[in-house]
Amino acid sequence: MKRYDMAVIGTGPAGLSAAINGKIRNKSVLLLGEKDLSRKIGMAPVVENYLGLPKIKGSDLGKAFERHLEALDIEITEAVIKQILPLGDYFSLDTTEGVMEASTVVIGTGVVPNKTMPGEEKYLGNGVGYCATCDGPLYRGRKVAIIGEIEEAERDARYMAELAEKVYYIPGYDGWEERMAEEKAAGQDGVLEIVEGKPLEVEGTEGDEFTRRATALKVQQEDGVEVSLEVDGIFFLKSMIPATSLVPGLQMDEEDAGAIKVDRGMSTNIPGLFAAGDCTGRPYQYMKAAGEGLIAGQAAVAYIDKK
Ligand SMILES: Cc1cc2nc3c(=O)[nH]c(=O)nc-3n(C[C@H](O)[C@H](O)[C@H](O)COP(=O)(O)OP(=O)(O)OC[C@H]3O[C@@H](n4cnc5c(N)ncnc54)[C@H](O)[C@@H]3O)c2cc1C
Repeated sequence: MKRYDMAVIGTGPAGLSAAINGKIRNKSVLLLGEKDLSRKIGMAPVVENYLGLPKIKGSDLGKAFERHLEALDIEITEAVIKQILPLGDYFSLDTTEGVMEASTVVIGTGVVPNKTMPGEEKYLGNGVGYCATCDGPLYRGRKVAIIGEIEEAERDARYMAELAEKVYYIPGYDGWEERMAEEKAAGQDGVLEIVEGKPLEVEGTEGDEFTRRATALKVQQEDGVEVSLEVDGIFFLKSMIPATSLVPGLQMDEEDAGAIKVDRGMSTNIPGLFAAGDCTGRPYQYMKAAGEGLIAGQAAVAYIDKK
């Protein structure tokens, strides 16, 4: 497997800037995220405060970013990162497109909307997870529920069905019916059973952070009836994953909830792992993201060169 010098996660201004700064210093860069760039770039009707480009439309800023990537021959690999594992000398990235490796990683994943389902955070790590393929072996012969918010979740559901006794799959996006016609037809008889409805709550036992355990997922079926699916594990497969769940052991900023703690060189508490942009805290602005991406990209280069 190819090991890149630098993996950059996110195609917003922070990630793009980090990738550009790695590439112009001759590092091999794996840029991961949405091919059409961060949706937030195009959402700004007019940007008043981007240096040198007064009153530029967000969509035009996006086009300029794309031209910059093209000029440097930087390609985007479209994938959602489910987990980043620091393995000493390098990082292993579990993505919707398979496992990838890099010597350094820059996280530029923006702000994740912190809308979670009741019980999701309470049981996180105690039966609730965001990466079915990472934890799959733990659920061999057991029952799991997978809440798929993205098409890629279908692959995880099928993988899990090879191991688990039962997989309830709750799709929350359009277009799954055709791809999963066989499973839909099998109904309750299949190992992989599709449950059409709205997931409402993770239920479980009480206890402290070590002893409490998720035991069921409450779902409102299409006919309005609420059912509790008894399971040993529940996975949420989302297009965005909170940074704390992305990297085990990543230190967060105690004074800014949800922000990754970094120093002035954009280093996190994990050697070789850097973060930039909205994910490191306020202000949420393009120029701050691009500037931090530059620092993170250059710091990653310096880290590689020192090794
Ligand atoms: C409507 C609107 C108007 C705005 N107007 C302005 C303005 O006028 N001026 C200004 O300075 N700022 C403005 N902003 C703020 C600006 O958009 C953000 O500050 C900026 O986009 C942050 O850049 P970023 O690279 O940190 O993150 P983002 O742009 O949020 O990019 C993060 C990227 O990471 C990807 N990602 C997340 N998780 C994963 C994962 N697990 N795997 C793979 N990819 C992942 C996301 O899909 C996304 O592509 C505006 C924002 C909005 C919503």
